[in-house]
Parts: sequence; structure tokens; C-alpha cells
Amino acid sequence: MGLAVASHQIAAAGAVLRQHEERGLSEDELRAANTIADLDAEQTTCPACQGTIPGGVVRCPECGLRFQADPEPGGPSCH
Ligand SMILES: [Zn+2]
Repeated sequence: MGLAVASHQIAAAGAVLRQHEERGLSEDELRAANTIADLDAEQTTCPACQGTIPGGVVRCPECGLRFQADPEPGGPSCH
């Protein structure tokens, strides 16, 4: 049983893949990535509710979105 895809569909799929590579992350994805990478900033904007979050806070006070997972209980400590 072979791959039952018409040749014109393969070409379309290839075009979409190329487009995706050239485009990279979407604006929303980039904004979210920047926000998450910006935890050390004085304040940041919640990607979910666009609320302002004070620096160092890992949980949005507006909607409760968590930016960092809790440390694993019983996991390796840094000491
Ligand atoms: Zn929020």
C-alpha cells in the first residue's frame, strides 16, 4: 500500500512547509516566547490576558497563568 497522495497535493504540501520554514514563528508565538524569556525584566505582559505581571513573579495575578513549572518535589536540589 503506497502513499495515496496526488502529485499536486505533494507540491502544495511542500510549498506550505517551505513557507513555514521561511516564516518561522508567528507573531503570537514570538511575543509569547519573548514574554517568557523576559522574566528578569521589571515587569512583563501576560500572553494570556495581556495583564501586567511584576518582575520575578512566575504566576499571572490576573488569570493565574503559570510561566514556570513548579520544581519537582523530591527532585535534585541546587545545593
Ligand atoms: Zn494573565
